[in-house]
Amino acid sequence: IIPVITIDGPTASGKGTVASRVAERLGFHLLDSGALYRLTALSALRAGANLADETAVAQVGHYLDCSFVGDQVFLGKEEVTEAIRAEEVGNSASRIAALPAVRQALFDLQLRFRTAPGLVADGRDMGTVIFPGAQLKVFLTASVAARAERRYKQLIGKGFSANMDGLLADLQARDARDMNRAVAPLAPAADAHLLDTSNMTADEAVEQVLGWYAE
Ligand code: C5P
Repeated sequence: IIPVITIDGPTASGKGTVASRVAERLGFHLLDSGALYRLTALSALRAGANLADETAVAQVGHYLDCSFVGDQVFLGKEEVTEAIRAEEVGNSASRIAALPAVRQALFDLQLRFRTAPGLVADGRDMGTVIFPGAQLKVFLTASVAARAERRYKQLIGKGFSANMDGLLADLQARDARDMNRAVAPLAPAADAHLLDTSNMTADEAVEQVLGWYAE
């Protein structure tokens, strides 16, 4: 059986960093499921689709031509690693992620990431919906203030402009949408380990996850 570690949590809780470092340490593959929603949103925006048109956006997700090469993300032949991190794309991703047909369209694609020797899957519903039988489930949390500060530094570091008040408002809107949607709402699996990273470094969080996995 190919082991899976799921790392779920709200926006900017540190999932991405923790998941990729845990994957690196174990030599496992990585699924950044948020990137799939971001790629679908970007692709739909570019095609001029109405983001509220569930069928149209689900089609885009179903035929998503994406690939991951190291840290790089491609849509067709175009590298979109940075483009999918823009706030507008993140907000659009959060909107389309509430559409059941879109989640369904990305279901099989996500399962295919589970290949030997193992997978670390990061997202919102990895432990609840996509990999309910995962060997280890972790749910990261952090205060809104800590998350907004991380997102701010991340955006500035990538050369995007950012405004703290706007980020706080965006985070709260996205959390509310992720937690209140009818399908796969953001919530820890019953058997998930909870980890509050507000006052933790990424390395400390990584050690904790590896410790749980070794148990
Ligand atoms: O994690 P990230 O911010 O890249 O995800 C973008 C959006 O995709 C999130 O705001 C969330 O609404 C959605 N998402 C989801 N389920 C996942 C991963 C991401 O609904 N497994």
